[in-house]
Amino acid sequence: MSRERLVCDVLIIGGGPAGSAAAIQLARQGRRVLLLERQRFPRFHIGESLLPASNVIFQRLGLGERLAAEKLVEKRGASFATEDGEFSSYIDFTVGSEVPAPLTYQVLRSRFDEILLDLAKEAGADVRELCRVCDIAFKDDGVHAVATPEGGELLNCGEALNGGDTFDIEAEVALDASGQAGFLSKRLGLRRFDPELRHVALYAHFEGIPRPSSERSGDIRIISCRDMSWIWMIPVSETVTSVGVVMSRATHAGRGKETPESILDRILTSTPVAAEQTVSAKRVSKACYEADFCYQPTAFAGHRWLLAGDAAAFLDPAFSTGVMLALESGLDAAVAVDHALEEPCWPSLAFDDYQHTQRQRYRFFRRFAYGFYDPAFRDLFFQPTNRCGMLDAIVSGLSGNWRLSRLHRLRLRLFFALVWLQRYLPVAPRFHTRGSSSAKAVRPYRQLEGSQT
Ligand SMILES: Cc1cc2nc3c(=O)[nH]c(=O)nc-3n(C[C@H](O)[C@H](O)[C@H](O)COP(=O)(O)OP(=O)(O)OC[C@H]3O[C@@H](n4cnc5c(N)ncnc54)[C@H](O)[C@@H]3O)c2cc1C
Repeated sequence: MSRERLVCDVLIIGGGPAGSAAAIQLARQGRRVLLLERQRFPRFHIGESLLPASNVIFQRLGLGERLAAEKLVEKRGASFATEDGEFSSYIDFTVGSEVPAPLTYQVLRSRFDEILLDLAKEAGADVRELCRVCDIAFKDDGVHAVATPEGGELLNCGEALNGGDTFDIEAEVALDASGQAGFLSKRLGLRRFDPELRHVALYAHFEGIPRPSSERSGDIRIISCRDMSWIWMIPVSETVTSVGVVMSRATHAGRGKETPESILDRILTSTPVAAEQTVSAKRVSKACYEADFCYQPTAFAGHRWLLAGDAAAFLDPAFSTGVMLALESGLDAAVAVDHALEEPCWPSLAFDDYQHTQRQRYRFFRRFAYGFYDPAFRDLFFQPTNRCGMLDAIVSGLSGNWRLSRLHRLRLRLFFALVWLQRYLPVAPRFHTRGSSSAKAVRPYRQLEGSQT
């Protein structure tokens, strides 16, 4: 069996947003980057709603014009409604004084990720698709890894591979950006599932879902259900809307052994606001099922390795933080790797800094992810008020800016104190914290938003 030997500075495992961002940055800094991706791009991926903080990274990567040319769906904020339409609100990014950009995008990840990976190739990274990293060892003299072809016969660079051919890889450092697959974190036993966020998601693409006629037509819409599950609607192209539901494992278990399609259809038809939106809609993809996607690692970095993006941690889809966190951690990892290669001394202090930053960022957003499944939080969140600048601070933080000013951090503390109070005293009208079902009539969503088909 022939074994090709590849030598590089950095081995990157996975070509999603985290891996590509790191590859672009490191290749531009003159590092020899080998990025191995087990799939052939373009490939489907969930995670279609972006945050304004991503725009800062697009500018840094020089992607601004390229994305503008794609004519992506523009996202200016989010609208929220309770399942019966009794409470609804709209949050505009312009409300937040520390929002990095008032507008971002909804994307088809197949295309978005392909653009990023192409940029990594242009920057000089050696990118090989259909190539799966299957073994790795960390020694004093460097990283030794093995990769095999995945499913196809041709690699991106045009080299033909025989059935059982493998690569031997020698690198100074490995960056695991393999997403939920978590190649390294699983191998090293680092992944810990979050007991507070044991959720199931079901989702599919639909056509024929009405959108508001205003400039808000591209916003994400979130429908909150009384059992604390929730539904997203994300316009990802002129005609296609991504629709998904997130629920607890227990709620899902109670639904028996139905197919993802029938569970999704039943939830949509039995949730008044969603039913009204999907009444003339047609599902144009199969429905997908995912479970247990919320976890964090016991370490973000170690001897000659780092974890970035979902390979390290994933919080929850509720606030669309995934792609932004993947991009930011990919760039942070690139900085840490560059420092470590500059002064090769292991363990690297730059990796300690990297780990510290990832933990801080994760903790900032975790409060919101936990909060979203607390009825008291939802009561306040679905009826936002800018009293004492609280909404300004919330929107600024949820735009992806986790390094808020001291004043905004204080405002967030106040908000979370009110959430605590709501459990005992009605600070805001109760919807989620109310035991019985609402007696009020369902208000049509159209009335709330002025939509058109
Ligand atoms: C239900 C749900 C809804 C979501 N909605 C949103 C949203 O609206 N907005 C948002 O920002 N985020 C969302 N996310 C999160 C988002 O999908 C992820 O955070 C994001 O894709 C992470 O990017 P990444 O680069 O870390 O990993 P990925 O994009 O998953 O890329 C990892 C890559 O690694 C490759 N790979 C895996 N193993 C190997 C191997 N051994 N060798 C080589 N290659 C390998 C894979 O093929 C893959 O292409 C959602 C997640 C879920 C579960």
